[in-house]
Amino acid sequence: MPTRVPQSVYPLFLMLLCMACTGDTQGPAVSPAPAATPATATPAPAPSFQEWSAQFLEQYWQQYPEDAVQNGRYEFAGELPIPSPELRARRRQFWQDTLAQLGNYPLADLDRNAASDWYVIQKQAEQALWYADRFQGESWDPSQYNLGDMAGFLLVTEYAPLPERLAALDRYLGAAPAYFAQASQNLQVPTVPHTELAIQQNEGTVQFLQGELAEAINTAEIDAATRSAYQATLTAAAEATTAYVSDLQQRLPSLRDGLARDFRLGAELYDEKFLHDLKSGFSAEEVYQRALSEKERLHTEMYALTAQLWPQYFPDTALPDDRLQAIAQLLARLVEDHASPEAFIDEVRDQLPQLQQFIIDKDLLTIDPDKPLVVRPTPEYQRGFAVAGIEAPGPYDSAANTYYNVEPLTDYAADAADSFLREYNRRTMQILNIHEAIPGHYTQLVHANKSPSLIKAVFGNGTMIEGWAVYTERMMLEAGYGAMEPELWLLWYKWNLRVVVNTILDYRIQVEGLAEDAALELLIREAFQEQQEATGKWRRATLSQVQLASYFTGYAEIYALQQAERARLGEAFSLKQFHDTFLSFGSAPIPVIKELMANP
Ligand code: ZN
Repeated sequence: MPTRVPQSVYPLFLMLLCMACTGDTQGPAVSPAPAATPATATPAPAPSFQEWSAQFLEQYWQQYPEDAVQNGRYEFAGELPIPSPELRARRRQFWQDTLAQLGNYPLADLDRNAASDWYVIQKQAEQALWYADRFQGESWDPSQYNLGDMAGFLLVTEYAPLPERLAALDRYLGAAPAYFAQASQNLQVPTVPHTELAIQQNEGTVQFLQGELAEAINTAEIDAATRSAYQATLTAAAEATTAYVSDLQQRLPSLRDGLARDFRLGAELYDEKFLHDLKSGFSAEEVYQRALSEKERLHTEMYALTAQLWPQYFPDTALPDDRLQAIAQLLARLVEDHASPEAFIDEVRDQLPQLQQFIIDKDLLTIDPDKPLVVRPTPEYQRGFAVAGIEAPGPYDSAANTYYNVEPLTDYAADAADSFLREYNRRTMQILNIHEAIPGHYTQLVHANKSPSLIKAVFGNGTMIEGWAVYTERMMLEAGYGAMEPELWLLWYKWNLRVVVNTILDYRIQVEGLAEDAALELLIREAFQEQQEATGKWRRATLSQVQLASYFTGYAEIYALQQAERARLGEAFSLKQFHDTFLSFGSAPIPVIKELMANP
C-alpha cells in the first residue's frame, strides 16, 4: 500500500533541536568524536528524563551516523562505520546501557508524552539487542552491504554546497575497501534471494559511482589536486564494490545447489521478529488467524454486494456460481470509471475538502483548519516509488507546508497510465485520499505534532502509523462516507483484501513454507491482483519478513481497541473523543497507547 513519510520531513526541526541540546548538556555524551563515550558516565546532578533522552539521541547518532545523516544531522556526513565484530559489540553495549539507564526514571514520575517516549526507547533497545543476538542478518544477508543509498543521498541532497558534499563522499567512499573486506568476512551462509538482490543492487551502485558521481567530480568547481584525489578514491571504491559482487557471484552456484540458508525464518524467529519489529500487542499467530477469518468475511460480503449489483451491470448474464469469479468480473467493470491522466491530480485535490467537511459534519475527530495540505506532483527525484505520499514538516517547523505528492501520469506510456488509473479509479482514489491524507497519515501527523517528540519522530512506530491509516478507511465508510454506496464498499473490500492477504502470505511463506505457485494463486484468485503485482509481491515476501503484516496488524489492533472502548463506555462512547485521545500520544506503539489511555 503506497505510503511514506519521507526522511526529508525531519531535517529542519532536528537541526533546531540539536542546537537546543548542545546548549543544555555538559555531559560527556555530546562529543562529536566517532568513538563514542560509553553511556555509563552519568553527569551530576542527575539529568531530567528530557535531558537524558536528548543525550541518548546524541549518542545514538554517534553509534549510527548514517541514520543521523538521513535524519538531517549532516555533521555526520562522510562517516562509514566498518561492520566489524567490535562495532557490533560497541553498539550492543550502548543498548544495554540504555536499558539500564531507563531504570533511573520511574514511569510514575513522567507525564504522558515522556512516558510514551520511555517505552519507545525501551522497545527500540530490546529490538536492537534481538537483532544483535538472534537475527544476525550480517552473517546471511549480503544486501545489507551497499554504499549506493548513502552515496546517492549525499550527492542529491543539497544540505551544503557541492564541493563540501563531495568532500564528505570522499571520506565515505575512502572506507569502502575496508568495509567490503569486512562484509565478505562476515558472510557465512547467505540466502539465495538476498544474494541475488545484493548483486543486482551493488551493480547499480557501481554504475552510479562510475556515472553520475564521476561526472559530478569531473565538473565540480574544485582544484585539480583535490579532483584527482577524489577520482582515485572513487576508482578504489568502485573496485571494492565490484570485488564484492564477484565474491557473491562466485558463491551463488553452490548456494543454489542447496548450500544456502533458507530465506524463510521459520516459526520461532518469525514470532520474535514480529514482536520486536511491529511492537504489537497481538502475537504473529493471533494476527494470522484474524487475517484468515477476515479474508473469509470479506469474500462473503463481496459476494453479497456482487449479487445485489449484478443485474444492474450485467442484465443479460446470469450470476456465476463461482463467487470469486463473479466478484472479479464485476470489479473489472467498476474500475473502468476513472479519471483521465491529465485530470488525476485535480480530482485528488478537489476531493480533499469533501473528506474534511464530512469529518466536521459527523464530528469524527478534531481537524485543524489552519494546516492546509498542498497537493502537488511528486518532485522528480522522488518519483516511481509510490502513487501518493505525505511530506510533512516536523514538530519544530510546524509553520512550513505539508505536501501531498501525487505521481503525475502525463509522462506515462498510455497502457501504463491506463492500468494505473484502473487501479486508482474514482472510488479507490477516494480511499487512497482517506488513507494518505484525511483523516489518515496527514491528520495523524498533525495530531502527533501537537505533542512534539523527537524520540517518536525518529523511532515512530510503523504499525501504529499504517494501522491508523487503514483503520480510518473503514471508520469513514462505517460513518456513512459515500452514502453506503455498494460499489464503494466493494472496491474498499478489494483494497482492504490486499493488506489482509499480505499478512496471510507473509506468515504462510515464512512460517509454513508456502511455495511460489500457491502464493501467486492466493494473490491473483483470492485477492483479485494482477499477475505483475502478484509476482512483485512474491519477490518482496522472500526478501522481507513481518513488514507485509504490519498494516493489517495495526488496523486490527486499533479497530479492536475502538470496539472494546465502545462496549466499555456504552452510551457515553464518543468516536471523536476516542480518536483525539488515541492520536494524542504521537506515533507510539499501539499497546503503549492502550496502556496510557487506560491509566491517564
Ligand atoms: Zn500508509
